[in-house]
Amino acid sequence: MTITRTICAIIWFAGVVAWYIIGPRGRAVWNIIQNPFGQKAKKGGVKRSLVGRRELSLLGFAFLGLFALPAIYVLSGFPRSLDRPFAPAIASLGVVTLCAALWLFRRSHADLGPNWSISLEIREQHTLVQTGVYHLIRHPMYSSFFLLALAQALLLPNWFAGMSGLLGVAVLYAFRVRQEERMMIETFGPDYRTYMTNTKRLIPWII
Ligand code: SAH
Repeated sequence: MTITRTICAIIWFAGVVAWYIIGPRGRAVWNIIQNPFGQKAKKGGVKRSLVGRRELSLLGFAFLGLFALPAIYVLSGFPRSLDRPFAPAIASLGVVTLCAALWLFRRSHADLGPNWSISLEIREQHTLVQTGVYHLIRHPMYSSFFLLALAQALLLPNWFAGMSGLLGVAVLYAFRVRQEERMMIETFGPDYRTYMTNTKRLIPWII
């Protein structure tokens, strides 16, 4: 089978849907379907939260770049003037990158367990996770977001719709990572500082 623009658009969309399904919201919907009258999973209260207008804007920006703008491109072809030539080799690399992104997203969710939150929060029973993928890097979930955005850039042959994901993720990451680490230091003190000296942020041994 030859890989075409249309196939790439379908793969990109399937990737975003898979992303949603394997994430916590998708799994919550699955749990309700499988056990409609069951108890809600106990997650424990939130002890500290930095959710505010800034956080919501950052998440909105990421959503725009990773989903809304590429979806408009896939459905309408807009903005056609910024199309780039389609190269099957680049598109195939995009498929591999997408699989890596989904794998890492799934793994980091599993390793973070109940400590996960969409925004910057510390739960009542928060523990510092340093195992699994967190043994190698401190922000595997952000790495997986970068991989998803890279897959989008490789799969969609349009400069605007391709690059918007990378821009959205870069802004989210740039405005969040220091604040998140400060919050972790305030909560876990020397344990987090030691963890910082032993790990990199996004790519093992590199950055
Ligand atoms: N930055 C991480 C996690 C993103 S989810 C990543 O990219 O994988 C955001 C929440 O995860 C934050 O509210 C923070 O409280 C929590 N968190 C981040 N690193 C953690 C760790 N090593 N152990 C436990 N919780 C962590």
